[in-house]
Amino acid sequence: MKIKVLGCSGAEFPGHNPPGFLIDGKILLDAGTIGSYLSEDAQWKIRHILISHAHLDHIKGIPFLADNIIIKNKKHNVTVMGIAPVLKTLKNSLLNNKIWPDFTMIPNVEKAVIKFLEVKPGRQIEINGYKIMAYRVNHSVPATGYIIQDKRGKRLLYTGDTGPTHAIWKEAGRAKVDRAIIEVSFPNKMEALAVATGHLTPRLLKKELDKIKILPDKILITHPKPQHLKTIRSEIKKLGILNVRILKDGEVITV
Ligand SMILES: [Zn+2]
Ligand SMILES: [Zn+2]
Repeated sequence: MKIKVLGCSGAEFPGHNPPGFLIDGKILLDAGTIGSYLSEDAQWKIRHILISHAHLDHIKGIPFLADNIIIKNKKHNVTVMGIAPVLKTLKNSLLNNKIWPDFTMIPNVEKAVIKFLEVKPGRQIEINGYKIMAYRVNHSVPATGYIIQDKRGKRLLYTGDTGPTHAIWKEAGRAKVDRAIIEVSFPNKMEALAVATGHLTPRLLKKELDKIKILPDKILITHPKPQHLKTIRSEIKKLGILNVRILKDGEVITV
């Protein structure tokens, strides 16, 4: 499995883009960054998008991708996957013919540029040989993390945005995860805000990792606020956990 980091920030600045992780060029994990990073050809290869939750920093690439597809005017569609409340929000609050055209009906329902596929927490689905399972996590809106297993049995865990949570760690302890992309948004001094908004700090990360029976081979941190990156980095270092580091936009992770 090759994971290209299109963005891994909890905000937007030059060089710091919202979350988007492209798996083997075909499956996109969150859609905070697409068109500002990928060429038209690369955008064309995306056939499935897994959404963790409907916050703007995780979905904002979708409308522009849909527009790029229709402009190229070919028979092509992308399947956007998420739990029911996430898809409902996308339909009612984004692709609602007010904020943006409803690309689930363009050019028509049958050939729509954007198709929705509901995922249910705890129920595995298979897409092009990847086994995908969603787990409810603890955020300010309905949200899931995902565990994705490729044909070779390599397992990637992605938390999306979450505060302290349980189900996904239980599954991570059942069979070893090779790579875990875990959110840490705030420094330790902002723990109250982190908990109130459904996010983690380095100290909370340590508590979450203590819940996993077998630690992942590598722990990769996403979603830090760039304004606090230095502090978060040094606080993570002080945890003394092996194989944990903060991700960078543009890097490629091989699993
Ligand atoms: Zn969020
Ligand atoms: Zn976010």
